[in-house]
Amino acid sequence: MISCNLLRRCVLVKTRLVQEMARKLVIGHCRPYIYSMTFIAPFDNSYAALPDGFFTRINPTPVAAPQVLAFNLNLARTLGITHAETAELALTLGGNALPAGAEPLAQLYAGHQFGSYNPQLGDGRAILLGEVVDTNGQRRDIQLKGSGRTPYSRGGDGRAWLGPVLREYVVSEAMHALGIPTTRALAAVRSGEDVYRETALPGAVLTRVAASHLRVGTFQVFAHRGELENLKTLTDYAIARHYPQADGPMGLLSAVCARQADLVAAWMSVGFIHGVMNTDNCTISGETIDYGPCAFMDVFDANRVFSSIDRQGRYAFSNQPQIVVWNMAQLATALIQLADDKDAAIEQATQIVHAMPALIEAAWLKRFGAKIGITKIREEDTALINDLLALMQKDGADFTNAFRALGSENAIDEFLDRDEFEAWRARWKTRIASEANAEETMKAANPAIIPRNHRIEQMIEAAVAGDMAPFERLMKALATPYDDAADPDLRHPPTDREIVPATFCGT
Ligand code: AMP
Ligand code: MG
Repeated sequence: MISCNLLRRCVLVKTRLVQEMARKLVIGHCRPYIYSMTFIAPFDNSYAALPDGFFTRINPTPVAAPQVLAFNLNLARTLGITHAETAELALTLGGNALPAGAEPLAQLYAGHQFGSYNPQLGDGRAILLGEVVDTNGQRRDIQLKGSGRTPYSRGGDGRAWLGPVLREYVVSEAMHALGIPTTRALAAVRSGEDVYRETALPGAVLTRVAASHLRVGTFQVFAHRGELENLKTLTDYAIARHYPQADGPMGLLSAVCARQADLVAAWMSVGFIHGVMNTDNCTISGETIDYGPCAFMDVFDANRVFSSIDRQGRYAFSNQPQIVVWNMAQLATALIQLADDKDAAIEQATQIVHAMPALIEAAWLKRFGAKIGITKIREEDTALINDLLALMQKDGADFTNAFRALGSENAIDEFLDRDEFEAWRARWKTRIASEANAEETMKAANPAIIPRNHRIEQMIEAAVAGDMAPFERLMKALATPYDDAADPDLRHPPTDREIVPATFCGT
């Protein structure tokens, strides 16, 4: 028995070695590439000109039979991208053909994952094709995600399956329509290959567009290695690209803190739980990135966690402000390394990071004030908002629908304790009597529709079976989330049978 097990283990080890060798042969091995003739992107790359230590040049690994499932034509136009042939679009966005001007590379970064430092992460399944300057003069990264192994893949297959690709497509585009800074989705391509998770699943490639893919973790990797020259180069690059007004490393820190404070308040105002706010998933630009186990809440619960791997509730809904501050403290720790006078830099960085809770609170009050029709915030408004949230929590009200209904007579139907809600409503009516445009303010702050988890799961199930109609329907409705005409069916909370209790990491 024992010897039998031993033998089996030996065979396993050997098989792994062979697989590992095969992988090594693929990595860095330049396959005969074809070039796109009719897919034109006006590339103007700056990251590829940074020192070698910042990335590894590598081509996407071609897929078996790329098929375009979604292409964001409006975004393509903004980016100045044109294409003539659909077949070539699939080849390019599947990673089988390179557009002229692309300089494919995998970026290096590190990061704290659930609080523990991982000294090397990097693009393990993503490849930056390059940058374009869009019609608004903004520099944007174009990246393929799920495009094969890289030197940073650490045991992973470099691939993505269709579910998370479509989830990111829908949720990131919904976030954009909600007016919240986010990476965008340019395309989703089915690869024609299976990827293996617990079972075989259809593979896919997402084309992601971002203001940049610089993360807190990009700074951490150089700071932790003591590569100060690279850290300085990165800091100068980030300032030039995102915050040209910022004065040195501490100016950069302030600017990022301000953006991240706004971002977390914006998430909370729509009931969004990011789910995996590791420092490698926290951008320097202030865009939302990495839609893994994220979810919008249906029933309001301040302690809500969706991610199946977040067992301690580190990234629970109302923990998010604390975590953003923690992430900014990690950025501060990295940037301090650049100072000649360390004590002074520590002092300054501490002040900047300590100012963040007040920034978040102000942004939160502005957002939640608007949700109840108040634009001129007064001190007592915090209690008014919190009392409503407490009622919603107690009565299990649907976060989106309760806020959207607030101005109407039907609002009371969202609550169980009618007397308590009536008492709150009376206080609130008195308070907003002095607000000029309460109704319009509320309409612009309370979406009628959000991408509900159960609808996303239903959409994925259909897409796996080859039916993209639910995807199209979701995308159409989510494009105008503040519109009363939003698809009524998609606005309903899940029935008991439809509830999706947990989400899983997007790998
Ligand atoms: P994420 O959870 O998507 O933020 O990914 C964390 C790290 O794991 C990043 O370095 C990713 O590139 C890497 N990673 C995630 N999934 C895969 C995969 N299937 N293959 C290789 N690397 C992956
Ligand atoms: Mg990530």
